[in-house]
Amino acid sequence: MDNRRNFIKKTALLGAAGSTLLLNGCNRESKPPSKSVNINKNRKVKIKLATSWPAHFPIMGTGIDRFAQRVETISGGTIKIKVHPKNALVPAFGVFDAASVGAIDAYHSAAYFYKGKNEAFNLFTGFPFGMTSTEMNAWLDFGGGMELWRTLYDQHNLIPFKGGNTDVQMGGWFKKEITSLDDLQGLKMRIPGLGGEVFSKLGVQPIQLPPGEIFVALERNMLDATEWLGPSLDIKMGFHKVAKNYYTGWHEPGSMLSLVFNKKKFNKLSDEQKMMIEMASNELNSTMNTEFQYINATALEEIESLGVTVRSFPQEVMEKARQAMATVAKEKSLQSHDFQKVWESAQKFLHTSRKWSDIGLKSYMQVR
Ligand code: CA
Repeated sequence: MDNRRNFIKKTALLGAAGSTLLLNGCNRESKPPSKSVNINKNRKVKIKLATSWPAHFPIMGTGIDRFAQRVETISGGTIKIKVHPKNALVPAFGVFDAASVGAIDAYHSAAYFYKGKNEAFNLFTGFPFGMTSTEMNAWLDFGGGMELWRTLYDQHNLIPFKGGNTDVQMGGWFKKEITSLDDLQGLKMRIPGLGGEVFSKLGVQPIQLPPGEIFVALERNMLDATEWLGPSLDIKMGFHKVAKNYYTGWHEPGSMLSLVFNKKKFNKLSDEQKMMIEMASNELNSTMNTEFQYINATALEEIESLGVTVRSFPQEVMEKARQAMATVAKEKSLQSHDFQKVWESAQKFLHTSRKWSDIGLKSYMQVR
């Protein structure tokens, strides 16, 4: 205890410069403890990381830029991550395959874009009427979710990490008000993942488009509606200029982004470097969550002055959507053993978590 206290005291006295010396293991005045971290023994490594976003895209792009900078700093410069926006090295949705074969070392994207590889991947982003961001983190960290994610990605030579959470997403922008199930028939909507499949059972034609192509499609009437994220980024995309009905969410209650490494490349890192990546990914995850909470709250005030009407879907639409989600999950569980396994794990956790979220958070929100 005394030794530890002295060490802390010395480190504090040395200040930032002293800390650097201690970390580098070359402080002649005070010998670092034998078990201290010695970053110099880590090999220098360069990591090519591609994303599904345009360069420096707000929150997701800037988040991964910051992650790269911070990993370089905490690793004492031994890990240099170069972030490549979509299409610079590979197309937006080509990152999974590219990292799987080692053409790139890592990527930042969302698992549900790759449901074509394995239906179970949908669930590592989230699912309609599913978990909030807090519940999603809890399931991944403590409920067995991450273990399943890593096992399934291992088959593709990939190692996933939490890559940020968008928190609750809005239900999207509609050119016409939705007053009944009939209004959804034949509607062309950009809506990815399981949300798209659920809406397809309600008569919507779901379309998957990368971020950079959505506004133009909506403006040119190739889309009648689109979902994207939440108030802040949706305004930046300009959707309010062409669609005035903004619906509250149901389909992406806490979408998890993914930070994924090529297994071979990651395993070449030292244990310390691996831990730095893991810790920085946790920071990326939590900071993105708080950033979304902050900017969405601020942007919602602005939305009200843009002639937009915020609405919720009619009860009959949500009721049918909930039923459709149960059907989609049943069908996919029959088709895919992996989906069934991950779905059961997520449902088991959600069943338990729902009670606490209702008694704890929901009760509080009602009295606030
Ligand atoms: Ca979305």
